[in-house]
Amino acid sequence: MAKAPQDLQIAILGAGMGGLTCALALAQRGFKNIDVYENAHDLGFVGAGIQLAPNMARVLDGLGVWKGIEAEAVNILDTSVRVGASNSELAHVDLAYVEETYKYPHMVGHRASLANGLYQGCLKESAIKFHFATTASNVDSFGPRPSFTATPREGEVAYKVECDVLLGADGIKSETREAMLKRLDVQVGVKDTQQAAYRIMIHKDQIKDDPELLALINSNTVTRWIGEKRHIIAYPVANNTIYNLSTAQPDTNFAAATNGTYTTKGSKKAMLEVYSDFCPMVQRMLDYVPEGEVCEWKLRVHDPIPTWVYDQTALVGDACHPTLPHLAQGAAQAIEDGAVIAVALARLPDTSPESINKALRVYEKVRKTRAETLVDIAAASGRALHLGDGAAKAERDRQFAELKDKGGKGPVPDRWADADTQRQIYGFDCTKITEDNFTEYFSQL
Ligand SMILES: Cc1cc2nc3c(=O)[nH]c(=O)nc-3n(C[C@H](O)[C@H](O)[C@H](O)COP(=O)(O)OP(=O)(O)OC[C@H]3O[C@@H](n4cnc5c(N)ncnc54)[C@H](O)[C@@H]3O)c2cc1C
Repeated sequence: MAKAPQDLQIAILGAGMGGLTCALALAQRGFKNIDVYENAHDLGFVGAGIQLAPNMARVLDGLGVWKGIEAEAVNILDTSVRVGASNSELAHVDLAYVEETYKYPHMVGHRASLANGLYQGCLKESAIKFHFATTASNVDSFGPRPSFTATPREGEVAYKVECDVLLGADGIKSETREAMLKRLDVQVGVKDTQQAAYRIMIHKDQIKDDPELLALINSNTVTRWIGEKRHIIAYPVANNTIYNLSTAQPDTNFAAATNGTYTTKGSKKAMLEVYSDFCPMVQRMLDYVPEGEVCEWKLRVHDPIPTWVYDQTALVGDACHPTLPHLAQGAAQAIEDGAVIAVALARLPDTSPESINKALRVYEKVRKTRAETLVDIAAASGRALHLGDGAAKAERDRQFAELKDKGGKGPVPDRWADADTQRQIYGFDCTKITEDNFTEYFSQL
């Protein structure tokens, strides 16, 4: 008897947001053999906030995990863009309209809450088997039986894994991408954005005697303080009990690194120096971070790669479209990838290698241009936010002023808060688009 699509053996490399979503979405569409290989011992919850945009929430709701994540998240009703040095407001934009328009509010939450929500969903699916503390390497076949080596960390011997579909959700340093580009004889290097980010969490009890900061933590506002080559974005998470800050500044600490370091324990003194010309309130905020808890991330991207799919192997998330965080869409896009792959594979008319390849290329068709466009918008928005004195900054600030005059209505130079950009991002229902177009796209390939 011919194999049904749901009998295919699927191997997923990486249990980040992309890998977890692939696993859950596939299991919910009836796939019975899903193995997830994760380098880390567990999900390694990073202590940082994350924005939960409506396009992400729509997918998570479809997978039945949104309610739990939403319960711990904070609903964002507006955003304030401020001059870092003076704290004077450049723009105030209403975001309460988002829920009415896109059926989901713009929320922000804790990364652990999002990852755990997806993981708990996966644990309910007997089809999903996790292999933690197991490193995948040496992807030596992309099809018709993709294969790689799995090396468990604790004493067991390395073994070879073969599958019908291989999904490389192994993040920005993706081994799968490297192997695929080598096979294609294409060189697309990781691009140094020359930016780095501090990620900081301040707990409410630390600021209980600071009314200004208490007002921020109790708010429903995303605040961005901007300055030349730098900015800070901040919002409350965990039911307004934690104030989350994420910064962007020129990378000085990683530039000289000779290895592949992407995160490092930062120096509090160095962090305070970077923002020493920002207003006293921002400096006070940064000063609440306990010594030894400053974590700095290098922000890396790479140029678009020619394809995300080779034979029966596909790339997912940061493995194929890493982005600067200025649009807060990296994880959201990885989550869209997972949802689209599951629809495409579930609609397979048969399980021949040719059909699997075509279904994966439908995934690529729905996703690649969109994800790469958002990567470009994030970079452009960062450039606008980080302008130094000159004509371009004068024009940007004129736009901010016009926006203020019009009560927050009109184009916003911070593209994350711009209604037209939001329409493009939040208005895209990736699951529906794949369902509606699968047959046509598949037949065109
Ligand atoms: C400062 C900052 C702020 C951000 N803010 C937001 C935001 O607000 N909203 C948003 O949507 N996105 C945001 N992002 C982006 C988001 O974090 C990433 O885009 C997203 O986590 C990518 O998910 P992923 O699953 O593709 O990759 P990852 O999360 O990197 O997961 C990859 C997984 O693969 C595992 N792995 C790697 N190699 C191997 C191997 N060889 N074998 C086995 N396992 C392996 C890793 O251990 C990891 O668990 C932000 C990013 C940064 C840096």
